[in-house]
Amino acid sequence: MSNHLFDLIRARLPGDPSTRPFLETPEGLRWSYADLIAASARYAAALAGLGVKPGDRVAVQVEKSPAVLALYLGCVRAGAAFLPLNTAYTPAEIAYFLGDAEPALFVCDPARLDALKPVAEAAGVPQVGTLDAAGEGTMAAEAAGQTGAFVDVARGPDDLAAILYTSGTTGRSKGAMLSHDNLASNALTLVEAWRFTADDVLLHALPVFHTHGLFVATNTVLMAGAAMIFLPKLDPPRMLALMDRASVMMGVPTFYTRLLKEPGLTPEATRRMRLFVSGSAPLLAETHREWRERTGHAILERYGMTETNMNTSNPYEGDRVAGTVGFPLPGVDLRVVDPETGAALRTDEVGMIEVRGPNVFKGYWRMPEKTAAEFKPDGFFITGDLGKVDARGYVHIVGRGKDLIITGGYNVYPKEIETEIDALPGVLESAVIGLPHQDFGEGVTAVVVRRPGANPSETEIQKALEARLAKFKLPKRVLFAEELPRNTMGKVQKNLLRDAHKGLYA
Ligand code: ATP
Ligand code: MG
Repeated sequence: MSNHLFDLIRARLPGDPSTRPFLETPEGLRWSYADLIAASARYAAALAGLGVKPGDRVAVQVEKSPAVLALYLGCVRAGAAFLPLNTAYTPAEIAYFLGDAEPALFVCDPARLDALKPVAEAAGVPQVGTLDAAGEGTMAAEAAGQTGAFVDVARGPDDLAAILYTSGTTGRSKGAMLSHDNLASNALTLVEAWRFTADDVLLHALPVFHTHGLFVATNTVLMAGAAMIFLPKLDPPRMLALMDRASVMMGVPTFYTRLLKEPGLTPEATRRMRLFVSGSAPLLAETHREWRERTGHAILERYGMTETNMNTSNPYEGDRVAGTVGFPLPGVDLRVVDPETGAALRTDEVGMIEVRGPNVFKGYWRMPEKTAAEFKPDGFFITGDLGKVDARGYVHIVGRGKDLIITGGYNVYPKEIETEIDALPGVLESAVIGLPHQDFGEGVTAVVVRRPGANPSETEIQKALEARLAKFKLPKRVLFAEELPRNTMGKVQKNLLRDAHKGLYA
């Protein structure tokens, strides 16, 4: 048997790996594909030397560096499951994840070793290693001591390649078990859908502990034999300067709003770029429009989840419709159903989005009941996202099931109200939430961020909405905030807003 994911990456490499660039950093580090293959072999050998066996988990909380990718592929080649953790997690949170995942090895930043070693020991993790932002540490030293030759552990399509924890936007993060073929099939699909070739250069500024930066970005590059410019984090001026050497950028909506603040963002500055992709959170239609005005490029929005990789994408050729996430990707079955009865809904009817396909994960790590509850008998996964399919087949996300507001017996979809509010003069953005209300069950409530210098009042906003929305949808209160609470992936944390204002109507 072969190693499903890694063999495919290797087989798809055009030409000589030693002359094919894989990655470069602003500090001048350059890796060819041959360097990546050798580095991942050394990491795989180092893992085996540390006692990591096929099927074991390797938990990793480290700063972004090329070495992390060698460690990721080292895990794949050694038959272990790569388990990256958000760099923002505190020792208390790490204690939960290590206890849950029971990894054979935990790799952390050397600066956090003193704080995290006791945590790992208390969780019974047998080995602890380090890796810093420069790719140095005990793991790097272990790898450096190995030869570049390693016999890859045999892994089939259904064997685990990674466990990725969800972002924790709606509650405690869940570990999604992703197989070799979940990752391989989705990367191949995206190469086709987004027309990746070995000539592409991806501007990579996303974190690599999340599906967006690790799988959507990196695996797609790997499956195309393409290259990337690897930046530690979002850095608008630097990214703008690099766009004349890149061809594709992937970002969360915040990337686009931040780049729009750069005066240098012009058609000329983005002339060499062929594609801008957005996902992980809804892109405002206004951002889409502004980006097109400033650069001539229509951002391609797509929709995915940790559990499913990518499900839908706007077309590469054809209309990229702002406010939609495009069509189901080839191989992905998508349906919208009544959340209560499970009955399939018609065009334009809002309901629960369910998906099925080779991209969909194997279940939640050590949560068999939760896994069983989220899958239908015919194999469809209940995404938790509410949406609809329009007459042209474009999928629209209207919000998460958990954010649906039920007021006086009526369903209110926050996105509809947010879109109206965001279009008002003086409004930068908004979040609409339901708060406990004695008479209505939940009271529709808007939290609004004003544009700098603008000062629309609560009553002005309510008045402006009256003409546009049915009475039951109107926010009973409009609150103002300096900014909306977001997690590292740019997702608005509505649960924090609900908590902060839960007594508003009490
Ligand atoms: P948790 O499941 O722990 O609450 P999370 O769902 O935010 O966290 P992720 O797997 O990172 O964790 O995010 C997937 C979710 O992100 C999707 O279910 C969807 O709600 C949202 N999402 C992703 N892309 C888009 C998009 N283009 N438009 C709107 N929402 C999106
Ligand atoms: Mg989720």
